[in-house]
Amino acid sequence: MGISCHYAGTMPQTTSASGSCLCGAVTIKAAQFPLQVGACHCTTCRNWGGGPLLAAACGAEVTIDGAGNISVFDSSEWAERGFCKTCGTHLFYRIKANQHYHLPVGLFPEVAFTLANEVFIDEKPEGYTFANETNKMTGAELFALFAPPS
Ligand SMILES: [Zn+2]
Ligand SMILES: [Zn+2]
Repeated sequence: MGISCHYAGTMPQTTSASGSCLCGAVTIKAAQFPLQVGACHCTTCRNWGGGPLLAAACGAEVTIDGAGNISVFDSSEWAERGFCKTCGTHLFYRIKANQHYHLPVGLFPEVAFTLANEVFIDEKPEGYTFANETNKMTGAELFALFAPPS
């Protein structure tokens, strides 16, 4: 299966998933959590979380309880990141244009996911490498794929 197939073609297999932050103030549910997830090595994700972000592209069908406990940080022109005000747990990366959520896999311990994609591979430090066989894309390749109409 090629990159174009995964990103633009077949729908990956999904499950419903539910998780919460460390303190329990926020609960988050995804109706379509893909079993194939991605890692982002970009400098912003690594600065935010202390390491690469492992997250699942869950689309817009995400329900949040306790939204009043979330702080949202405007991290770029195109996306924002939410975290629990009380415990600091990272809750989502959200695309502004379509309100699609990418949810950190660590929030959902019951999902048996597989790491299938790595993006911003060109920003990955040399000091670590994942052993999974993955589709790897540079930041430029990713932007070319998802470039908004100008
Ligand atoms: Zn919390
Ligand atoms: Zn990133």
